[in-house]
Amino acid sequence: MSIPVVAIVGRPNVGKSTFFNRVLRQRKAIVDSQEGITRDRVYGETEWEGKRISFIDTGGFIPEDMDVFNAAVREQAKLAMSEADVVVLMVDGRENITSSDQVLAQAVRESGNPHILIVNKCDNMKQDQQIHNFYELGIEPIMPMSALTGRLTGDILEAIGIKLNLKDRKIEANESTDLQLAIIGMPNVGKSSLVNALLRKEQTIVTPIAGTTRDSIDTPLKWYGKNVILIDTAGLRKKSKITEDVEYYSTVRAIRSINQCDVALVLIDAEKGFGKQDRSIVDQVIKAGKGLVIVVNKWDLIEKETNTMAETSETIRNQFPKLNDFPILFISALTKQRVSNILKEAFVVYENLKQVISTNALNTFLEQAVKTRSVPAERGKVIRIKFIKQVSSAPPLFATYANYPKLIPTHYKRFLENQLRKVFNFNGVPIRFSYRKS
Ligand code: GDP
Ligand code: GDP
Repeated sequence: MSIPVVAIVGRPNVGKSTFFNRVLRQRKAIVDSQEGITRDRVYGETEWEGKRISFIDTGGFIPEDMDVFNAAVREQAKLAMSEADVVVLMVDGRENITSSDQVLAQAVRESGNPHILIVNKCDNMKQDQQIHNFYELGIEPIMPMSALTGRLTGDILEAIGIKLNLKDRKIEANESTDLQLAIIGMPNVGKSSLVNALLRKEQTIVTPIAGTTRDSIDTPLKWYGKNVILIDTAGLRKKSKITEDVEYYSTVRAIRSINQCDVALVLIDAEKGFGKQDRSIVDQVIKAGKGLVIVVNKWDLIEKETNTMAETSETIRNQFPKLNDFPILFISALTKQRVSNILKEAFVVYENLKQVISTNALNTFLEQAVKTRSVPAERGKVIRIKFIKQVSSAPPLFATYANYPKLIPTHYKRFLENQLRKVFNFNGVPIRFSYRKS
């Protein structure tokens, strides 16, 4: 069972972000008025009575033209509501009803979702009376609160909990997840488009007016009876380039996505090629010990000859030899070309990541490897590698015992890893070795 989702809708400045930040008790919603930074929607999770609740905040693009504005607000609200189990409409208790409030109220009513109307900015008891001005919106229950001071937050969460039927929900929301798949990459590489293609519906946010960045969200997906969670992330930027808070928070979230996933898809823009920043993203995935699949997107934009794909793989791998050990796929999120290969490959990589090799098989392998190339003597010492065993999986760690573990040269360690990869299938998997004394 997936985590229940609450969408907070409301026109700008009613206090949605303030509410969001208070409920999540962390800076998740990014309150920033700079153009181009405000985003469509921000996601976050909290716990209420021991159960997880996911919130969507429909944030703030503000067109000047009132008609465009109302259309945009309604569009955003619709998108948020299509994902939500409960919709919270927020209005400003210090102001009269506006046309945007009405447009939104109508959208909420028509959505058929369970809903609540919050009259915000009721900073004291006297102001609670304001709720009576909002009955004409036709949404009940109506509840006052102050997002700023936190007044009545508990009542609101309780009402949301009742609407969500939280008491009857299983606590182990993630119990039956078979694969957590992160989709990461530079801004504009096509992450949202890929999520849409995988979900085969346009439920996400690509709207013509607003910016299309989103923050990390978990989207459940069924694939041949298996439960996949797509962890979709806003762009990961190079750390040193970060000057703004917003980028900092996006990066932190990308790193969290990497840590949370089993397998990461790192998207590369086919036209731009494999760059420094892509390399740094890949490095982070490998360092975190996660399964990795390189996905070259926008392949539809490339003029192709018979060998273009093989040649491009070759070029990427020459640029970054580490990628010899990881699959590279070529897709178009736009035309959905070869998108269906992605989950298949991700599951193969995940199986590789989890596999456990028996100590017997490993030592047969070791014998062969040492026969193929003996360990060179170092500083007059004869080095004997005695045995290998796998200590853990996902990522696999191999403890390798030797009489002088510190003297084994790096090139020989690399040779052993390459041999191991030849004998066993660890495609897509970062492997770790620990050299120990015996
Ligand atoms: P959003 O555009 O709906 O996300 O609104 P914000 O959360 O950015 O809030 C808009 C303004 O209203 C900010 O200046 C907040 O400090 C203020 N505000 C939010 N909640 C309250 C509240 O409960 N009481 C008062 N007095 N001000 C609030
Ligand atoms: P994100 O920032 O990584 O989420 O990227 P988006 O999914 O928002 O895509 C950025 C832009 O690239 C949009 O204009 C998409 O329409 C476009 N795009 C995404 N995937 C493809 C693709 O496979 N082919 C082409 N031609 N354009 C694409």
